[in-house]
Amino acid sequence: MSETVAFSKHSVNVFFHILTQCNLKCCHCYINPDQHGNHSLSIETIRAWLKLFVNKTQNANLIFLGGEPTMHPDLDKGVKSAREMGYASITIDTNGYLFHDFLNKITPADIDFLSFSLDGASPETNDQIRGNGCYGQCVSGIQQAVARGFKTSLIYTVSNRNIHELSMMPALLSRLGVDRFFIQVIGIRGKSRGKTAASGEDNLQVDQRTWMTLIPSVADQAADLGITVTYPKVFLHDAEVFECAGQVAENYFIFPNGRVYQCPLCEDYPLHSFEIRDNLLIPREKINERDLFALTIPEGCVMNRLVQSGNISYRDDGSPDYKIACCLLKEEVAARKTAL
Ligand code: SF4
Ligand code: SF4
Repeated sequence: MSETVAFSKHSVNVFFHILTQCNLKCCHCYINPDQHGNHSLSIETIRAWLKLFVNKTQNANLIFLGGEPTMHPDLDKGVKSAREMGYASITIDTNGYLFHDFLNKITPADIDFLSFSLDGASPETNDQIRGNGCYGQCVSGIQQAVARGFKTSLIYTVSNRNIHELSMMPALLSRLGVDRFFIQVIGIRGKSRGKTAASGEDNLQVDQRTWMTLIPSVADQAADLGITVTYPKVFLHDAEVFECAGQVAENYFIFPNGRVYQCPLCEDYPLHSFEIRDNLLIPREKINERDLFALTIPEGCVMNRLVQSGNISYRDDGSPDYKIACCLLKEEVAARKTAL
């Protein structure tokens, strides 16, 4: 059985893009240089910006992102500083290339999870999305990390390009010794938005019936193999109440040009709630994403309706068949036995 993970009012989640550069060119990359710049933050700035968020609560969770964060030569220093500052958990999202001999610069005690990204259970499917050779590199990175005692997780971004291999993932992850599985849904932003607009079709998003049947069954398979699974809820049942995380939770998506968003679906637009200037977090004047969070529409999430409405269907009377949940609302299926 899955459990909906309610938005926490007692924790802060900090998604920190320390640079936007990456060695890959994945088809669905959400990094948008027009909006997020082409910067790499200095270690001094990383430390100053980390301090802005750690003091907000006793329970601040930090995710280092890029681009590819291991391309930053001082990522290890940033990680150690974050630990000293008291971040409750530290995760690094990587494409698996692990630049700058990164695993030799940190220990398993320095971070909670090293999170890898694969978008196929086979090299054919993954590499078509992420680039030639990525599958082998990512699997090798996971093997090195597991061998050194790091806790690992894996993110699989589901779209109509790779959903046919999702059910092969639990067995693969079990063989590799991965601890957690994050099933993500494709977001129509960044490059996906450009492709959808150019082709005039919206065929990357998975339909409601497929999502609500396949994803829970794959999650169950993984849980039976000792892997805890998290996936976005996406579609709400009639009885379920819609909530916007922007109104009830604290999530900060920080970009190296100083933009700070509270909603990832807003990241293609200059709608950020805050700006970091001179190492200070400054709220922005209207109009910004916070003006959208309060709007109530029958379809649920306003930003989903505006930027990726291909996942909504309507009845003959014009009312939506279902509501779309906040993209930050997750279901979790706990591991049911110890991994072999
Ligand atoms: S690895 Fe991540 S940041 Fe790099 S191109 Fe792929 S999706 Fe974008
Ligand atoms: S995804 Fe939708 S519901 Fe969630 S924070 Fe953004 S606007 Fe609010």
